[in-house]
Amino acid sequence: MIQADLHIHTVYSPDSFIQPKSLVDMLAAHNFIKVVAVTDHDNIRGCKATMELASAYPDILIIPGVEISTTEGDILVLGTEEMPPKPWTPELVVEFAKSVDAVSIAAHPFREYGMGESVRKYNVDAIEVLNGGSSKAANDQAKAFAKNIGLPGTAGSDAHQVSELFSVNSRIEANLNVESVLKAIKKGSVSAQVTK
Ligand SMILES: [Zn+2]
Repeated sequence: MIQADLHIHTVYSPDSFIQPKSLVDMLAAHNFIKVVAVTDHDNIRGCKATMELASAYPDILIIPGVEISTTEGDILVLGTEEMPPKPWTPELVVEFAKSVDAVSIAAHPFREYGMGESVRKYNVDAIEVLNGGSSKAANDQAKAFAKNIGLPGTAGSDAHQVSELFSVNSRIEANLNVESVLKAIKKGSVSAQVTK
């Protein structure tokens, strides 16, 4: 079992202050969160930089990812170092994720830049049911919605500052490698909780 923060922005997002080095240092020092997905807005430069720094630490894992601003709301794509081709419609981004064996997750569906109920129309692999930047009401709604449509629920801090890192985490029945984590999320062997 691993515990992972599956939604993090580095300085490669224009609105984030987290340096890749700070993220790697925090992860290396943490007692039980040893896995993160780096999901910058619409680019994959942050995950590349973070993975390079993390390669010095055998006990931590960086999942490369990206948060794509689709035409209908944000979608996290985890497990790829490639960008989906434009146009970024939900259909095409989800299709891209499947084509590269990545995981697509509807980010914070019930707040600004979320896809809301229209998630139903697309074949995403999971729903972000616990987002560190969302209200409790929005997270509760996402959780009930995921249950209702039968999709796995993930957690991510959506940190843009170091103090926001790891506020929530996904508990995943997986080993410390990207393939195992992606497979477990798709299978639904994941649960979301606030980090105590
Ligand atoms: Zn985000």
